[in-house]
Amino acid sequence: METTLILFKPDAVQKALVGQVLARFEAAGLKIRGVKMFKASDALLNEHYAHIASKPFFPEVQRFMQQTPVIALALAGDNVIVRVRDLLGPTDSKKAAKGTIRGDFGVDVMVNVCHASDSAETAAAELKRFFQPGELF
Ligand code: ADP
Repeated sequence: METTLILFKPDAVQKALVGQVLARFEAAGLKIRGVKMFKASDALLNEHYAHIASKPFFPEVQRFMQQTPVIALALAGDNVIVRVRDLLGPTDSKKAAKGTIRGDFGVDVMVNVCHASDSAETAAAELKRFFQPGELF
């Protein structure tokens, strides 16, 4: 059983999409291990998005991610990392098929509803980044 880290981004919070998206995860048999809402600080975003920090669009991503608080979710299931990425669809919502979360609710490559860990290594690091051990059940 794997656990992955999901962030509901400000577009999901603003458009009240969190319940619908969470319902898709639960309908897929995935289990909630932890959940919390918070405002993402500059320091947290610099760490979380270190792999895109040198990109010209990074300041825009920072501003977007601070428009509202975000919601972090720890979600467990067999093969959950790949399954959640499949449920989301590709990063660019415009390229995401209808029936995927980004295809149904996303706007573009930045405004794309959720972040989800992309490998076992990043999931382990991201779960530690957003949750204390006692906050996961
Ligand atoms: P993913 O979130 O699907 O793992 P990346 O790690 O490549 O994708 O990018 C991190 C986030 O940065 C994306 O979810 C998106 O919000 C933003 N992003 C990626 N590429 C672009 C781009 N070309 N323009 C604007 N924002 C982008």
